[in-house]
Amino acid sequence: IEGLLEISKIEARKLDLHRDTVDLRSLIQQLEDMFRPLAESKGIDFIVHCQAELPRFVSTDEKRLRQILLNLLSNAIKFTPNGSVELHIKYRNQVARMIVIDTGIGIAKADQQRIFEPFERVKESQTQHISGTGLGLSISRLLVEMLGGNLELTSQLGSGSEFCLKLFLPAVSEALPVSRNQADIQGYVGRSQHIMVVDDESSHRHFIYDFLQPLGFVVHQAESAEQALQKLKTQSIDLFLLDISMPGMDGWQLLAELRNRGFKAPVIILSADSYEDAKLYQKNADFQAYISKPVRLDKLLEQLQRCLDLHWYNTESIPAAANDAAENNDNNTNTSLDQKTLIALREFAKIGYLKGVLESTEQLESQAPKKQWLKQLRLLVDKCDLDGIVNMIDELIKLKGEID
Ligand code: ADP
Repeated sequence: IEGLLEISKIEARKLDLHRDTVDLRSLIQQLEDMFRPLAESKGIDFIVHCQAELPRFVSTDEKRLRQILLNLLSNAIKFTPNGSVELHIKYRNQVARMIVIDTGIGIAKADQQRIFEPFERVKESQTQHISGTGLGLSISRLLVEMLGGNLELTSQLGSGSEFCLKLFLPAVSEALPVSRNQADIQGYVGRSQHIMVVDDESSHRHFIYDFLQPLGFVVHQAESAEQALQKLKTQSIDLFLLDISMPGMDGWQLLAELRNRGFKAPVIILSADSYEDAKLYQKNADFQAYISKPVRLDKLLEQLQRCLDLHWYNTESIPAAANDAAENNDNNTNTSLDQKTLIALREFAKIGYLKGVLESTEQLESQAPKKQWLKQLRLLVDKCDLDGIVNMIDELIKLKGEID
């Protein structure tokens, strides 16, 4: 149903396209982290090959691009019983070619057109047992068209398939220095936190957005105090990042106004003035942290953690938690596979990629069928309770924190 709704929305051109600044390598890394464990569990190789001179940042709708690649890669792994799945990324003259090559069952000439139509699947003895809706490729092709690209298939029955996605991906010239010191931080436990960044300089707002959004924060931007107040009429916010020097109402005035209006969320002040100046200027202002500009990202993470009482997680946090929660009675031979699959599962659930959720759960079940928490997980998966799945994995992480 979700797939059908999506198709009708795309066809009615009712889908908003976003222009995100996408960190291409980190997107590819994310896909690799998700799919490598799935491939490994089937005993097939997963190879990613990026051309050396890829631009760091490109402009496109990140969610849609990810969705297309997720569909192509998950199909490639699904329909490849042995051999390999490869993802190649090439870039020239602002055009990217992303090619997914598999050594799987292949697709007969006669089927190569119709599998892009809704509900069309190849009916062979080899594919009968493989689950699917037949909507993935239709959605992908429509999304590719929406993004102004094209998707081509070459395949030979019995020896494999190649899906080539060609997209105009303009490099963003002003590469933003998103160098995350805490590179291993992947996100935080619990519900999504809404952050509002108020700054008249769009590059500063984008810098914060590009850094925080991949960590799971929902970042709302306002270019003036007035716009921030307007947005607050319809949006609740967990934390404010306020620039001080802005035309019109400045950051201090906005802070006073927020408190006047009863907004109690923590406020972090961002300012190019020294802290001493700031203190002198506004002795009694009710803010929770002060970060001098240019903003150091490690400082920002530190203050976010303090103000929002966050519990970060990284790639190491999840696995051990799963093991601890798993009654300590299972064999641990597959631990690292377990860990990665669990992280991938959380990502899939978070972005609403149901197919990935199902496949990762099945994989976990085949590795460790007896674990109690897996039975709980299965109940959530059967109910399609994606938030519940994310929460449950988060709980496992917290549990590990308490044990430590
Ligand atoms: P689903 O995978 O849910 O069935 P899709 O629209 O993604 O739906 O794919 C439609 C059909 O195309 C699949 O059922 C399968 O028969 C065929 N197909 C897609 N990708 C591949 C691939 N990499 N190798 C072989 N067959 C494929």
